[in-house]
Amino acid sequence: SIVVTGATGHLGKHVIDGLLEKVPADRITAVVRNKEKAADHAARGVRIAVADYNAPETFDSVFSAGDTVLLISGNEFDKGRVGQHKVVLAAAKAAGVALLAYTSAPGSLTAALADDHRETEAAILESGLPYTLLRNGWYNENYTENLAPVLEHGAVVQAAGEGRISSASRADYAAAAVAVLTGEGHENKTYELGGDVAWSFTEYAAEVSKASGKEIAYNSVPVETYKGILTGVGVPEPMAAILAGVDESTKKGELVVGSGDLSRLSGRPTTPIAESVAAALKG
Ligand code: NDP
Repeated sequence: SIVVTGATGHLGKHVIDGLLEKVPADRITAVVRNKEKAADHAARGVRIAVADYNAPETFDSVFSAGDTVLLISGNEFDKGRVGQHKVVLAAAKAAGVALLAYTSAPGSLTAALADDHRETEAAILESGLPYTLLRNGWYNENYTENLAPVLEHGAVVQAAGEGRISSASRADYAAAAVAVLTGEGHENKTYELGGDVAWSFTEYAAEVSKASGKEIAYNSVPVETYKGILTGVGVPEPMAAILAGVDESTKKGELVVGSGDLSRLSGRPTTPIAESVAAALKG
């Protein structure tokens, strides 16, 4: 089977949709922690396995020898994501899966956010399992799903200077994952995935202006100011620090991915940020 964890998440749903276009539903297993959330997948004939990264025993019978697995990285920053990922890895290893693909972060990223991914990658290599590292760059949606305050204040506020970002849509990254899960020759490969066109927040603000018909400025503020703005609107301190760290990395150019791996794997140009802005404004 092709087994996908995090299958009820945003990326996971795109991956399941993409797999259903290529393989019979009964060859796909969606690993979820909440069965109700997986009703759509089940209705389409996808097998459902219930397991939680925090409960190792729940992974005991999830994998079988020869499976192709996509481990979608977790989002519980306060629960030790590396330990969670190792739970999945140990179960995959015990079962003898044929391939373990993992959604990681760009190799160029030095922000604290990348630490969990680097440690998980090391554990994957150490396991000796055949692997594929999908080093996903940033999602267009990280920005376009947060347009409300931008439109309200008439400003994009970040601490990234003129740093550029090679973002792409979640659907693009999912298409690359599907290509790896259903294709051949991806064993022990590391892909640096990012959008075809990198953009700056100055360009992003101009794009939002154009699409919304409102005047939108870009205010690049010092990183401490940015952190203060985030905590001021209720973002918990640890998350504000993570987001501020990402902007520092952006400023240094660490979110530019120039490999072309994403469009090559997905077989299509990546989704321009303007398209995601337009889609978000349409609601
Ligand atoms: P989501 O937050 O939508 O999905 C995360 C998935 O992980 C969900 O399906 C969630 O389950 C599952 N999950 C979390 N904790 C556990 C657990 N303890 N046990 C089992 N499953 C768990 O994120 P996306 O789909 O948008 O992105 C996928 C991953 O990529 C993120 O989790 C994060 O690691 C990373 N990411 C990457 C970004 C980028 O720009 N490249 C931006 C943001 C995140 P449930 O559906 O039940 O909540």
